[in-house]
Order: sequence, then C-alpha cells, then structure tokens
Amino acid sequence: MLERVLTYLEQKPTCPHCKVELTLCHAPPMHVGDGLGWGSEFLFICLNDECPLFVNGWDFIENQYGHVGSYRHMEMPNSQENYSMMVGSKYAFTGSAVDIEDLRRQSSRYQAERAAAAQLYGCVAAKDISPVIHLLTDDSADISVRRQAANLLVELNDLACIEPLRNHKFLDPHLEHAVNLAISQILNNHYLRECPYCAELIKIRAQLCKHCGKELAQT
Ligand SMILES: [Zn+2]
Ligand SMILES: [Zn+2]
Repeated sequence: MLERVLTYLEQKPTCPHCKVELTLCHAPPMHVGDGLGWGSEFLFICLNDECPLFVNGWDFIENQYGHVGSYRHMEMPNSQENYSMMVGSKYAFTGSAVDIEDLRRQSSRYQAERAAAAQLYGCVAAKDISPVIHLLTDDSADISVRRQAANLLVELNDLACIEPLRNHKFLDPHLEHAVNLAISQILNNHYLRECPYCAELIKIRAQLCKHCGKELAQT
C-alpha cells in the first residue's frame, strides 16, 4: 500500500482541472456523504484555491443545493479512481497533508523488515543461522520478525547461536525468555550445559569442568 502511494507520488499526479500537482493527504475517518470507509489511508487532493473546479463550485452548490460549499478534485492512490469531493470550506483538508519524508522512512523500514522475514524462511532450509542471530541482536528490527527468528532457533539447533545471544542484552523480556528457553533446548539436544563458573560448554555428565577445572554440582 505504502509503496503504491509512493510510486504514484513519483508520477507527480496533477489535477485535470487546473494541472497543478495534487497533494497527498491523510484520508478523513469517514467517506464524506455515504458514511463508508475510503478503503485507503491516503488521498491525493487538489488544494489549489485557483482551481476552476473549486472556484466555480461555490456558485454551483449555492444554486443547486442552497448551501455553502464547493468541490476539490480527489484521487484514490490504490485505484486511481477520481471524484469531485464536496468541501464545506477552503480549509478542509489543508491540515491533512502527509509528511512525505516520514512516509518514505516508514516504507523503507517496512521493506527492510519484509526482506528480513523472507530471509528467515530460507535460512532453516539452508541451515544458516546468521540472519536469525542478526535479527535477534538487532533491537531496532521489528519485534514480530524477531519473535519468528526466536522460534527458529531450536529448529536450527546450532550451538554457534549461544555465544552471540548470551552476549546480547535484550530490551524485550518476552523475547529474552524465548531465547533462553531455546538455548536450554539446544544444549539439551547436544547433551551439554554451560559451566556456571566459566560459561564454557561442557557435557551434562561432567563432574569437573574441562575448561576451568571447577567441581560441578550434578543436575
Ligand atoms: Zn485543481
Ligand atoms: Zn568451567
């Protein structure tokens, strides 16, 4: 959706009545008139006060309906359907222009997340743990994609994940919990545990740590 809006924006759509570039606006909560939703978060609107549709609309509506109002040209970004939309004042929609830079940032973040999610699907088949670790240790990545990544840890069953994950300070306690559970499961699968003194991986059955020599309590 966001991409489609941005693509249409690149084409610099103009008003057929005045040839002035349309302004991307946030859609009002309800469809003016029939009470239905717009089916789009965004609308392209001609906000040119010199636009003939807008200039001539005042008299037309006055004569036709006997109330104060005019029309603005409007296009839907998804279908490029267009309408003459009734407005009650010249200020209608002027405050709802979209911050396009903000929209671009949202869109590139969304694309990066989608790419990360797509990569996740491939990494189990390829037995490649690096995208999973990368996502789990990136606190700015989308939390739902990071949860999916945590769910893949046991399936990948790779001891190489333990060190980077143990060294990461998780900001989300639920994600941290999921990661800890997965690490315990992976260790169990390999009949290993972490030495409580030196944190090296040792056999579950070991009585002395082969790395630091400390005596270990049996679990
Ligand atoms: Zn216009
Ligand atoms: Zn040890």
